[in-house]
Amino acid sequence: MDDRMFRTAMGKFATGVTVIASEVNGDVHGMTANAFMSVSLDPKLILISVDGKARMNEVIKQSGKFTVNILSGDQKEMSMIFAGQIKEDKDVEFETFEGLPVIENSLVSLACDVYQVQDAGDHTLFIGEVLNLNVKDGEPLAFYEGKYKQMT
Ligand code: FAD
Ligand code: NAD
Repeated sequence: MDDRMFRTAMGKFATGVTVIASEVNGDVHGMTANAFMSVSLDPKLILISVDGKARMNEVIKQSGKFTVNILSGDQKEMSMIFAGQIKEDKDVEFETFEGLPVIENSLVSLACDVYQVQDAGDHTLFIGEVLNLNVKDGEPLAFYEGKYKQMT
């Protein structure tokens, strides 16, 4: 099976879009991710999957903490910035929540401690324990067949 066929198949699974953010020595780093899921209620655990070659991988390992920001339908530009789909450098103002960087106006921001790390093929699975969260009303940004979609 080739990579394209696998990605085409996985792209049939419609997801939301998140920006993962973390900070080391005052430098904030963000990365767009749709490999995100809820794992456990007791304790409250979530999971993200980060490419072994992504800068974010080392940033989270060093920081031991990260946030997951679930994007709203009007935050497609944020997703494009943190996926490297907009080439020119953009200044993004992060807010601080539980001492961690979060994206303003996200639908949800989760502040997490790294709970468990598991290498899986060419990715690393980070299980995060949710320390606190913020929820806002609104429609999510969606990703389906490799394209951004609006829910309404
Ligand atoms: P870089 O490529 O260096 O950074 C990403 C981009 O964010 C760069 O353009 C950088 O300039 C910008 N940036 C970072 N920090 C800041 C800041 N403080 N201020 C302003 N700009 C900043 N990859 C995965 O591993 N797992 C996934 O689940 C995943 N899901 C994805 C879902 C979608 C919808 C898309 C489009 C991509 C997804 N990717 C995923 C791919 C991933 O987003 C890109 O490969 C990304 O470029 C990897 O980031 P990096 O940590 O290597 O850092
Ligand atoms: P695409 O067709 O590459 O993505 C469709 C689906 O394939 C994604 O939703 C994801 O489930 C899966 N996928 C894609 N790349 C993967 C990877 N390297 N590892 C594991 N699963 C992967 O969509 P696109 O618009 O071409 O994506 C833009 C860029 O973002 C590509 O470079 C893609 O590789 C990357 N991306 C990576 C992941 C990931 O690492 N989990 C997820 C989505 C997109």
